Amino acid sequence: MDNTATKHKFSLRLLIDEEKNRVVLAEAGKDFVDVLCSLLTLPMGTIVRLLEKHQNPQSSIVGCFHNLYKSVSEMDVENFETQACKNVLMFPRSLKESHCRKLKMNVDDTEATMFFVCPSFRSNVSCCKVYSNISTLRCTCGSSMTRAFQIEGKEDDGSVGNKVDGVFLSCRTSFIITDDLKVALNSMGLVLNVLNGLGYSGFDKLQEMVIDVGFDEVMSLLGCLFTSEAPLTDTFLRKHCMTRKRKMLTPLVQDNIVAGEANEFLTLKVYVRKTDSVILYAECREDFVDFLFTFLAIPPEFAWELSVDNKNMGCVGNLCRSVKDLSFEKRKEAIVSKCMLPYYYDISPQLLDIFLEERVEYECLVIQNGFPGSCRFARKINKYELSNREKIVKLSPMDPKSVLCSSDHGGVGFLKGETNFIVSDDLFITPMNSSSTISLLSKLQMNISDIDEQVINISKSEAVSLLRASLITSNALTNGLSNFLSKMKPNDSTAPSSSKVSKSEETL
Ligand SMILES: [Zn+2]
Repeated sequence: MDNTATKHKFSLRLLIDEEKNRVVLAEAGKDFVDVLCSLLTLPMGTIVRLLEKHQNPQSSIVGCFHNLYKSVSEMDVENFETQACKNVLMFPRSLKESHCRKLKMNVDDTEATMFFVCPSFRSNVSCCKVYSNISTLRCTCGSSMTRAFQIEGKEDDGSVGNKVDGVFLSCRTSFIITDDLKVALNSMGLVLNVLNGLGYSGFDKLQEMVIDVGFDEVMSLLGCLFTSEAPLTDTFLRKHCMTRKRKMLTPLVQDNIVAGEANEFLTLKVYVRKTDSVILYAECREDFVDFLFTFLAIPPEFAWELSVDNKNMGCVGNLCRSVKDLSFEKRKEAIVSKCMLPYYYDISPQLLDIFLEERVEYECLVIQNGFPGSCRFARKINKYELSNREKIVKLSPMDPKSVLCSSDHGGVGFLKGETNFIVSDDLFITPMNSSSTISLLSKLQMNISDIDEQVINISKSEAVSLLRASLITSNALTNGLSNFLSKMKPNDSTAPSSSKVSKSEETL
């Protein structure tokens, strides 16, 4: 992380109700609001990592994402297709990386994307002509792809903002931020409306306060985004996040809320407590875990978009909606609303509306029969500049999920195939080979007849519902899937459990 950037302080003017100990609203400049916008572009995995590093454990609980992240970090690398798979899940790459580097404060500590080739790719014909963003991948010649290279013209990407405008925002003005993170252009009318809405008839009960906001406060706001209904009050007055009382989510209804084809689905087996329909555990194959793990690469702005019925998403929703209204990119094509991820988060089946960035080829200028030395890498090298001893080699990207370098990249997941997993209601995932079903079951201390086993197909509706539930509740399976369970009566003894087991075994 850039040290100078994190030492930056923003000035914020707060209007406070001391009696009620709350922030009524804040007035902020575009540089600070730009930083707020950037928080929505960080992959969820990065957010969890930052909060765990800089905040106390309570405020780092973002729905089920801390468990999802912990599952990746604690899972033996043997379970992943490659070491790089674990790497891209623990340090997911943001496509807004270059935007964030232009901010006055970039909180993302993920290393800048690097480009690597095999050290001998120019001299050894058996080397495959690929580049990788991760140095641990192996070339066909057996070497690791450790030679880093720079791409000409990559740094001065003029497409991102400019000096006078903001990075994410187009307006050179100041902004009003409400305690629940609705952000809008500053105006007297707006301030009056907010005050009126909160029942203040004048300024007599309110105090003005100018404060410096640094990295710690931004981290606190980031945590509060998911857990608090009053992030400004919690950050600046209470100095800690008051976890809000979690409302029960209105479950998504199965039919017609999510348009789309249901021909692609994943199957899992869930164990449900009959008395209250709580899903205790799910048993699944690697495809469902791949699906859950890609949640870590999704930034909140897209998680919010993908959640379809996103009214109930508290401050994240308010901030997302505001940013969308204020955004620069609003003027560009509708691409803002699409969830775009780096190409290697392509898993099959793709149940959410995720779009993948284009796989970019680069060209390398090499000297034929050459000796080692420097060589040039660029998106496109002008052929007319070539001398007769030089040639251009095209390098395509190597998927971190592929074990051998090849251009074939279809349908491979992050995890090795033929593995069974156990997923808890709060999305802690363990491979069956390293967990004990006996101890899990005995820990529950439940009457066996109170556990019902069901097989669920996860298609688009269920997938959207799970993503939404995992973001704002700590019971993602129950909240996300209960509406998709087949109805059951408590302690229904007529269901022949033995035949059910054999039936579901076939599908897994
Ligand atoms: Zn090689």
